[in-house]
Parts: sequence; structure tokens; C-alpha cells
Amino acid sequence: MTTPIITDAEMIAIAESIDITTPPWSTAAGDRFRIASAHAYASGFKVLPLWPGLKRPADGHSVYTASGSEVQHYLWRDAASKNEWGIGYVPRGERTPGGSVRMVLDADTRAGYEFLVDLLGAPTVITAGRDKGAHAGGAHWYITVPELIPGLVKGSANEYGIDIIGATGKEDSYVVAPGTWIAETNSYYHLVTHPDRHRLRDDDDPYRFMGYGISVTKTDPAWFWLNDMAAKTRAAFAKPIRPEGYVPRDATALHDWQRDVPWRVILGEDGWRFYRPAPCPGGGCEEWTHPWGASTPKSATAHEEHCPESGSGFPGGALHCWSENARNQCGGYQSVSKITYLAHVRYGGDFRAARAGEGIPDEEDWGLKGCSWEPPTFLPTTDDNSQED
Ligand SMILES: [Zn+2]
Repeated sequence: MTTPIITDAEMIAIAESIDITTPPWSTAAGDRFRIASAHAYASGFKVLPLWPGLKRPADGHSVYTASGSEVQHYLWRDAASKNEWGIGYVPRGERTPGGSVRMVLDADTRAGYEFLVDLLGAPTVITAGRDKGAHAGGAHWYITVPELIPGLVKGSANEYGIDIIGATGKEDSYVVAPGTWIAETNSYYHLVTHPDRHRLRDDDDPYRFMGYGISVTKTDPAWFWLNDMAAKTRAAFAKPIRPEGYVPRDATALHDWQRDVPWRVILGEDGWRFYRPAPCPGGGCEEWTHPWGASTPKSATAHEEHCPESGSGFPGGALHCWSENARNQCGGYQSVSKITYLAHVRYGGDFRAARAGEGIPDEEDWGLKGCSWEPPTFLPTTDDNSQED
């Protein structure tokens, strides 16, 4: 047992004193990109290019095109050397070479930051948005955990103002990597390093020590906290949104119909194509490609009822449209029930006609009132739910 050279308090003080307006190192942008990519992959991340100055993937890129290929990194380096390209890290779904699972805890609030400092000590990365805006106080903790935790999703720790990137092992989310420049605030993401440790390596290449993050073991408080968060998510998924024994006052037949006819039947009939299972805790949700000339395969997520990721209580589940085209076909709504989907896509927005046309039994008056129509939910418009700060 040796005495640590550096105390937690010292590292926290260093993290909080970082000047995010200065570049974190001096290597030319292109080489930085290549070196960062290679080391990131070995440390449990795939890599994607971000537009210069933005957090958004470059055209044609997303978490789903993130690469571990050296050749790809070489090509990107050529592009990156001309501009201030950014880098996104997608935690890899398979175990790291060290046998553990890579995740990133992303604190979006001051409270989240303080909670994680107490739990894990100094952050791994200070974000470019740290000083202002919606993500003030932001920081990232790069952790490895011994194994995936069933039920854990990106939003499991929302109540703490913390996202868990890589929670599901599905490679469906990314963080903006250290070194990336953000135009809006003219500031950089910084790796938190100590001068004494810095001397041990190439000054221009902090990524060499990327693997160094924080290793969470099964006896650490952080492990128990993550498992608590996962248990809460599993419980929320299992719990019906309506109290037990509740019978809808009207439209029972409609609710039954929406529960009986799966999304895959409805979407299949309209020419949608199944893309892949969605990374939701229940395992039954699916991603689909719309039939109206989709440019990317993830047009919409068909959620099962009670799925906590759906953000909706629609009987029979919700269709969440990622594609603007799909959204327009669904009456402009981002998240729709089956009857709302059918009314807009097949019946020009006429709920009464939808109900008659689909042969859904009629308890009372048809039309909006008789349908016990539930207003669709509006969620923030985005092309991809995976974008991170
Ligand atoms: Zn779902």
C-alpha cells in the first residue's frame, strides 16, 4: 500500500480551476483526431466525427456509424486536419480489453455534479458548456463497471440530473470527447489531468491515458447506486400506469383493440420495415423504417405499453417518430397512439373513419369523444435521441 501522490481534494480543485477557453493541448487537429480515436477504441469507445464547433455528428454519421477502424480514422484525420472537427465517443457494447463495461456518467446540473464528486471524486472531463447555458456545471466521469446491469438505461438517474451513457450496452448514445471545441461558447472539453501525472507522458497526448478512467468494482458505493437506479427503472416498467382494477369509463373496446393489435402488424401493413430491437428495458420495443423515402433506418421507435422510455401512457404503446417525415405523416405529432397513427396515416386525420374502417367496436359515439382520445405528447424535436453534450 503506497500513499497516493495526489489526493481527491487536489484533483477536484484542479478540475474546477480548468480554463475551458484555452485549447487543452497543442497537437495539430488532424493528428489529435487520429491519436484520440485509436486510444479511445482501446479504452472501450467507438468514435464518430462531429461538425467543427458543434456537438452534432457530421452528415452521414451517427452513433450507429461510429467506428473502431484505423482506416476510417485515417480518412477522418485528413478531413479533420483542415478544421476544428470534434469527436464523439460511443461506449462499446462488448467488454473492454480489461474485461469490464465502459460507461460515462454525464452530470448536466450543478446538483448532479456535486453528487458525483461525492460518489466518485474528480470528474474525467470538464465540458465546454460548464460555465453557462442549460448544461452549466457539466462534467463527465468515465467509468468501467464489472458487467451490464439489467434494467439500467440512459435516463435511469434523471432525477439526479445525470445521464448514463452506455447504460444498456447497445451503443446507442455518445459523449463529446475531450479536445472538442464548441463554437457557441468558444470553449473546449478538457480531460482532467494532474501536472505530476502529465509529466509521465507525451504532453500533447492526454488520450494515451484514456483507459485510466474510474474503475467501479462490486464493493464500491457507485456500483450499489447504479443497481438502485436500475431497480427503480425495472419497477417503473413493471408498474401499470393506471391503478390496478381500473376500467376506462369509455372506449374499452378501443383500448382492447390497441392492446391486441401489435405495432408490427400496423406498421407492416403500411409498408414500414423492421430495423432492429430498441434499447428499452422490456426488450419488446422495436425500431422501424418508414416507407416514405427514409434517409436513415431509425425512423421511429414502436414502444410497448408501460415502457419508461416512451414517456407516454397510451394503451397499447406509443410510436415515437424520430423522422420529421414520419412525424408529418402522423399529424405532426412526435409521439402517437395506435388510433392517432391510423387516423392520420390511413384516414386523413378522421378518427371516426379510422374507427369504422379498422372495425373497432363502438361503445358509444364515435369520433374524438367516443374514442376517449388521448392528446398526443409533444417531445423536444430532434433527429436523434442519442445526442449528448
Ligand atoms: Zn420502449
